[in-house]
Amino acid sequence: MERKRVGIVGAGVSGLAACKHALDKGFSPVVFEADESIGGVWTHTLESTRLQATTRAYRFSDLAWPANVTEKYPSHCKVMDYIKSYACKFDLLRYIRFNSQVLGVEYFGATEEDIMSWELWSGNGTAFGTGKDGVWRITVKDSKVGSTEVFQMDFLILCIGRHSGNPNIPGFKANGPELFRGKILHSLDYSYMDNVAEFVKGKHVTIIGSGKSAFDIAAEVARVNGTSQPCTMIYRTKHWLVHKASVWGVELGYFYLNRISQLLVHKPGEGFLHYILATAFSPLRWAISKVIETYFKRNIPLQKHGMVPDYSFSYAMSACLIAMLPEGFYDMVDEGSIILKKSKTFSFCDKGIILQDGNECIKSDIVILATGFRGDLKLRDIFTANWCKRIVTGSPDTAVPLYRECIHPRIPQLAIVGYSESLTDLYASERMANWVAHFLGGSFQLPSIRCMEKSIAEWTKYKNRYNGEYYRRSCISTINIWFNDLLCQDIGCNPKRKNGFLAEWFQPYGPADYAGLY
Ligand SMILES: Cc1cc2nc3c(=O)[nH]c(=O)nc-3n(C[C@H](O)[C@H](O)[C@H](O)COP(=O)(O)OP(=O)(O)OC[C@H]3O[C@@H](n4cnc5c(N)ncnc54)[C@H](O)[C@@H]3O)c2cc1C
Repeated sequence: MERKRVGIVGAGVSGLAACKHALDKGFSPVVFEADESIGGVWTHTLESTRLQATTRAYRFSDLAWPANVTEKYPSHCKVMDYIKSYACKFDLLRYIRFNSQVLGVEYFGATEEDIMSWELWSGNGTAFGTGKDGVWRITVKDSKVGSTEVFQMDFLILCIGRHSGNPNIPGFKANGPELFRGKILHSLDYSYMDNVAEFVKGKHVTIIGSGKSAFDIAAEVARVNGTSQPCTMIYRTKHWLVHKASVWGVELGYFYLNRISQLLVHKPGEGFLHYILATAFSPLRWAISKVIETYFKRNIPLQKHGMVPDYSFSYAMSACLIAMLPEGFYDMVDEGSIILKKSKTFSFCDKGIILQDGNECIKSDIVILATGFRGDLKLRDIFTANWCKRIVTGSPDTAVPLYRECIHPRIPQLAIVGYSESLTDLYASERMANWVAHFLGGSFQLPSIRCMEKSIAEWTKYKNRYNGEYYRRSCISTINIWFNDLLCQDIGCNPKRKNGFLAEWFQPYGPADYAGLY
């Protein structure tokens, strides 16, 4: 049989997993990576960045962390070492073309009209379609020499990440950044800087945002400037940033990431019994959430600083909104080296930032926008054809429409790995990479496009219900087992991965449970 060409864009953890699993299935993929090294977001982070999940949760299924990494939340350097060891162990580096930025990808073969009329994905429900010359043309720029080359692939896997690339910059009707005489930068630019301490030293720094990056940057600036030049963090929404992933010694996984906990939530495509159980148990889920909230409110001075979120802890778990608090954050708030200010909106003046009430100008030399990323635009912009751009991310009021979180039902011979979020992104990405590799290897075919769309609609309903206003994140964390069960059923392996009844129902599931699914 003719050897099919598989292209992968991106060599972050998702791209590496996709490469490794494609190799397992006998393919010889070409990985295009814009950067000069592997690791994606982990190559350019703040000095203080640590893993937010435990090493048990943030790992590849078939590579444990080395025994000498004993801390639960290792530094970004150790994460990079771990990622490199994965690439070395499975000999992945020789498949990667570094400094190769993919400028655009375009499908050649069937026309848009043909594709829209298909009942089966790619014409016949298989990875490589009907074999009628359908190929992806990938335009790649070599950033070292500046030349451009076009490659042809029979199947393309996009692993371009969503927490880097296109920064989310707030828009202003009036009094925008043009008025400000200081420096404005996005957290992305900040994470690429070499000497941030020098940059912020002695300066009035204002940070906009309330996600993990905003907290990390505020803590980093406060460590440099202390109380002599406090930094200000302006936030709109309060989130659950916690100091550890356990309550009274019990890991959060026992409340949210085992099979029993999944009975407490409605699941996409669930049957009658699951529906009844989830409905009957919803008060229990509420009670668990309240108990956990009480624990964190007692152990972190959230109330004192007016930082108790307006939403429940369970919602934070379902919508992937939980993050780790930088060490000593509220001590720095107490001593006055970080000032917290709530404001729904903000605007600029020549000297700094004006808050919603318009009364106060926060004097600033530097404004750092820790306002997140537009992963959806990054995904859309990689396609050259307008019809792909139009459909790939779906409409703005629904989650990105991906079957099994990786296949767009109308875009043939292409998979997207690493768009949906979970307990840890690496865990979810690797499961998807494994599933895509099985699909490439012919282990199963996709159902009809109509079935795929029905499944997507069920998952969208779930995301709207449990991810709320954050539905675009496509977070599947608290039903990750349900999701993995479906992937296992597709590839024909037993979804029950634990030994014994008690372990199966009560132990949290994690990446290691899926080791060896070749
Ligand atoms: C500071 C930080 C800390 C984080 N901490 C955690 C954590 O503790 N736990 C957790 O679960 N998640 C964490 N995340 C989320 C993180 O994004 C994922 O864990 C994971 O690393 C994402 O990997 P990825 O391969 O999907 O994407 P990325 O790491 O973004 O990799 C994408 C790769 O694709 C390349 N690429 C993109 N576009 C192109 C193109 N056009 N051409 C060629 N190459 C391209 C990029 O250069 C990059 O190397 C963190 C994110 C950040 C930013």
